[in-house]
Amino acid sequence: MSEITHSTIKDGWFSETSEMWPGQAMTLKVKEVLHHEKSKYQDVLVFESTDHGTVLVLDNVIQCTERDEFSYQEMITHLAMNSHPNPKKVLVIGGGDGGVLREVVKHESVEEAILCDIDEAVIRVSKKYLPGMSIGFQHPNVKVHIGDGFKFLEDYKNEFDVIITDSSDPEGPAESLFQKPYFELLNGALREGGVITTQGSENQWLHLSLITDLKKACKEVFPVAEYAYTTIPTYPSGQIGFMVCCKDASRNVKEPIRQWSREEEERLCRYYNADIHRASFILPNFARKALE
Ligand code: SAM
Repeated sequence: MSEITHSTIKDGWFSETSEMWPGQAMTLKVKEVLHHEKSKYQDVLVFESTDHGTVLVLDNVIQCTERDEFSYQEMITHLAMNSHPNPKKVLVIGGGDGGVLREVVKHESVEEAILCDIDEAVIRVSKKYLPGMSIGFQHPNVKVHIGDGFKFLEDYKNEFDVIITDSSDPEGPAESLFQKPYFELLNGALREGGVITTQGSENQWLHLSLITDLKKACKEVFPVAEYAYTTIPTYPSGQIGFMVCCKDASRNVKEPIRQWSREEEERLCRYYNADIHRASFILPNFARKALE
């Protein structure tokens, strides 16, 4: 058993408790704690779990587990990429584990994929402990920038076809990435017909009022702004949502405008397919009422 201890680990179990999900906690059994450091921006913890593979935790919040990360990485990426006719230049804000980059480069149209993450520690640690995700950094068309995504976007106008904001939750360094000024920067950095997806501040069970505000802010900036979600066992309440927005008022992001064949889908993805693209925008009454 390793010597590294952490405040979230007791009696061999990691518990994810937070005011963002009061009265509930995901608990994972720990096999070995692999790494812990306080980076310039956040508390970085990596442990090997007994049944969910290696787990990355930032500021005590699960970012990804090897067992189910593909659900989130594929959906936040392909909902955007397959809503664009010919995505050549793509930007990822956050995404320091490399999983979204791994998905972006599955599209042959991509000529350049830039990733901007505020914390070099996440990229360094992911390269060492999460090879299945950080493989995304190895692609020749990928460039990495270390910095605040909000500031990075201020320098780009009419530059990207797709921008994916794969940030941590609104508490901490990602706070500014959930507010209207950020969506205005995204809109300015997109080329005509550009598409964005953002991690939509958790899910409809926990944060419906937050999501309602997020969608309202997006609708004030983009002509098209829709909410979609995916199932992922180790995120709070077993799911997470995304805002999917487009600069082109005529684009229906709920329908993939590009799609792989069934054979390609099954070769490239373990979660995403054209049917689940459509299904991910279908909401239960309590959420549809609040969001539509
Ligand atoms: N899939 C995870 C989720 O949904 O919570 C997110 C994974 S990824 C590791 C989150 C990344 O966002 C981290 O690497 C963190 O450093 C980065 N991040 C947070 N605030 C940021 C900011 N203002 N600019 C750029 N990256 C930021």
